[in-house]
Amino acid sequence: MKPFAAPVDDILFTLTEVGGAASLHDWDGDLMREITQAFASFAEGEIAPLDEVGDTQGCRLEDGRVIMPDGFKQAYADYAEQGWPGLTVPEEYDGQGMGGVALACVSEVFSGANHSMQMVTGLVPGAVRTLLDYGTEAQKSAYIPRMASGEWLSTMCLTEPGAGSDLGRIRARAVQDGDAWKITGEKIFISGGDQDMTDEIFHLVLARTGDADSGVKGLSLFICLSHLPDGSRNPITVTRIEEKMGLHASPTCQMAFDGVQAELIGEEGAGLKAMFTMMNHARIDVALQGVAHATRAHDIAAAYCAERVQGRGADGQPATLDQHADVRNMLNEMRALSLLGRAISHLAIVELEKESDPMLVEFLTPIAKHFCTESASRAADLGIQCLGGYGYLQEYRVEQVWRDARICRIYEGASGIHALTLTTRLLQGRAAEAADRFAAFTGANAPAEAVAHWTRARAALAGSTDAAAKAADFMALSEWLLLRALAPRFQSHAAAPEIASYLARNDYMGAVLSDRICAG
Ligand SMILES: Cc1cc2nc3c(=O)[nH]c(=O)nc-3n(C[C@H](O)[C@H](O)[C@H](O)COP(=O)(O)OP(=O)(O)OC[C@H]3O[C@@H](n4cnc5c(N)ncnc54)[C@H](O)[C@@H]3O)c2cc1C
Repeated sequence: MKPFAAPVDDILFTLTEVGGAASLHDWDGDLMREITQAFASFAEGEIAPLDEVGDTQGCRLEDGRVIMPDGFKQAYADYAEQGWPGLTVPEEYDGQGMGGVALACVSEVFSGANHSMQMVTGLVPGAVRTLLDYGTEAQKSAYIPRMASGEWLSTMCLTEPGAGSDLGRIRARAVQDGDAWKITGEKIFISGGDQDMTDEIFHLVLARTGDADSGVKGLSLFICLSHLPDGSRNPITVTRIEEKMGLHASPTCQMAFDGVQAELIGEEGAGLKAMFTMMNHARIDVALQGVAHATRAHDIAAAYCAERVQGRGADGQPATLDQHADVRNMLNEMRALSLLGRAISHLAIVELEKESDPMLVEFLTPIAKHFCTESASRAADLGIQCLGGYGYLQEYRVEQVWRDARICRIYEGASGIHALTLTTRLLQGRAAEAADRFAAFTGANAPAEAVAHWTRARAALAGSTDAAAKAADFMALSEWLLLRALAPRFQSHAAAPEIASYLARNDYMGAVLSDRICAG
């Protein structure tokens, strides 16, 4: 199996040449390379070797506590010892005060090395951000330093058996008990709901404070600590760990909340708004998980295809797989999906950090989440195909990439939900400014003919009563256009020919998608 190698040069290339990171007021390219390289060395040496162990062993529930696979506890202790949990935590709360771009670099490398472990540790920055935006001073100073030091990990508890994409159906109930709150209910699918890498856990829980039919307006956000100040356990129980197709080392927990002591964070009834602070960043983080998988799949396949000899080339000599046109097309596509996906994510994260064009970020975020996660599955699938029968075996681990990557298209908003957001909400009323900002960006960077396909489709959808049925096509068309706006920025990259070849093979799609959206 090819050992994991972090794509540090590619990450730095897209950040600067495509994402425009140099326009950030505190940009320091040398420092960013240093941080990314330092984490890459740690990930390659210590985290990545646990990926196969985790996949094989999985997590287990013993006496009500979740036990992580061998080696995870020590690797996490080293991760905390090196200060990585506090990377983006402000210095006043004992962190290092780096911005979201540094987190994006580290996060992608982490996901490529070991997606399961990244899942369990990766919710801390979002929890800290939620505390910074909505917490009281007392909450910030009590909780943030314990996450910055790595002493605590955190979770995000939204999903329930009857409430997945539709959080308005949440039933977990919070009632006031004097100055405190108590939560009773059930949550499912909670990543890292328990683990043995930290002694205590910080849970962010969405629960109902309004009446049963108050929808999302009756939801509030709460802090629930796994342990109470006297050291006893808050009554939060993991009732089972789900069996899954992948991510075996990320415990996906079913949890019972039985009169759990909770603290309100933010305003009562404004829980979803506060939760979205966490989710918007989480979506770009998931996009980068997709990029990491596409990159890893390509890396494994390219190495294999450069060595395996089958058939003969045009000169009659024995040829390696990558000399055959069909295999080369597959490798080109994988490489392009990985680089272009990272480009979209970096553009979104840099714009998010700049805070100067929030409506453009609104439009880019669903595209990044959708494109990168769909591309991860496609690239992993092509990776298996490139390796032939060996791709289907466990030996080269590309089948693990395929299994682990699959969830990215479902959590943090399933692909269909993001397509729907783009095609309905972001084309209407005041939110349509997001589409205007996207039109301005692509208009300035993509060929006029490509922009015309999208503009025509947008106009047709604005007057359509059936926009939802065309959501997948409009998402695909928006992605197609954005790739054409970003591709010229790869001119000086060694993989520019692979990107050009991939885009040329899909050039016809703009007209097809636009015609289909405008028909009927
Ligand atoms: C491994 C894993 C980890 C997870 N981690 C967490 C976690 O840490 N915390 C947490 O709270 N949750 C977590 N989840 C839950 C995850 O966020 C949900 O699975 C996701 O939100 C989708 O909800 P659902 O599974 O109920 O699917 P559903 O909502 O039932 O959707 C099923 C399908 O129908 C489509 N659909 C649904 N509604 C609509 C609509 N209105 N219009 C059009 N199409 C629609 C969706 O696009 C999807 O394709 C995790 C799930 C898994 C599997």
